[in-house]
Amino acid sequence: MSTQTHLNSKISNIEVFRLPPRWLFVRVETDGGLVGWGEATLEGHTEAIEGALCAIRETFLGWDGDRIQDIWQHAYRSRFYRGGPVLMSALSGLDIALWDIKGKKLGVPIWQLLGGKIRDRVKVYGWIGGDSPQAVVEGASLRKEQGFTAVKMNGTGALDWIDSPTQLSDAVARVRDVRALGLDVGVDFHGRVHKGMAKQLAKLLEPLQPMFIEEPLLPTQPEEIADLSRMISTPIALGERLYTRSDFRPYLERRAIDIAQPDMHYNKGADLFTYVVDPSVFAVKEGYVNAPEGPGLGIEINEALVRETAAQYATEKPWRNLVWYGDDGSLREW
Ligand SMILES: [Mg+2]
Repeated sequence: MSTQTHLNSKISNIEVFRLPPRWLFVRVETDGGLVGWGEATLEGHTEAIEGALCAIRETFLGWDGDRIQDIWQHAYRSRFYRGGPVLMSALSGLDIALWDIKGKKLGVPIWQLLGGKIRDRVKVYGWIGGDSPQAVVEGASLRKEQGFTAVKMNGTGALDWIDSPTQLSDAVARVRDVRALGLDVGVDFHGRVHKGMAKQLAKLLEPLQPMFIEEPLLPTQPEEIADLSRMISTPIALGERLYTRSDFRPYLERRAIDIAQPDMHYNKGADLFTYVVDPSVFAVKEGYVNAPEGPGLGIEINEALVRETAAQYATEKPWRNLVWYGDDGSLREW
């Protein structure tokens, strides 16, 4: 049980901000006046996260915010039901904010608290869509101009269990077009290609040497992904829909993936820089972003803009993903 040994680290407030297009920010304040920011976004399920954060607020107000692990263990283990996208996204929002606070309190970046840097800069890719094929080359060219050397795109649009082979050759042509610009490419199957066609598409893409294929099947299919991994030489990335170390375990045990990939997302209308005071921390140079040097997360949130935008957005319906249907009326994976 937490005891309030560090008065100025006591959690005095936890606020949640719903922000367009589909973010959920968490602001944690201590009685010493330190503020940390976290992100609890689970796009399409905003209200569920807000509900989970109500319980987190009720539990952890007054706790010593320095005890990050203790808080994580209590949030995760003290209730009978645990894990999953809703509870873990909510907990992540609090957890990130507490690390931000601790870094600010000690005046160091979070990476300093985790053992120090192992690289000075991080290679990044830019998202270019792929759901609407015609926009792919345009998007890739723009990313190249912005300084990226690599992009990620969706492989296909909606697919039937067994669809026309044309869908596969079109996907290959789009990837080839982007590679022709001199860019490295990651191809996100988005779990929307079913096993029969995922095998084919992975094989067809192999000669184009994607950096990786992502979620080649649904994250409920570790055995099938392990089978696929043995069939192709292309690295397999997955993890966006896994939430804990134990969720990754079947993939690691089966040597099914090459890249453990935490959640990332793209946005329209508001982007990575929108709510950050100084976007230069994310400046892309020759395909890399420098490790942030500021304390905590190394970014400063534009709190006034967050509050103003969240107030305007409060009456709007939260973002929902598209629901796709085939010509036969059956549901397609999005
Ligand atoms: Mg993905």
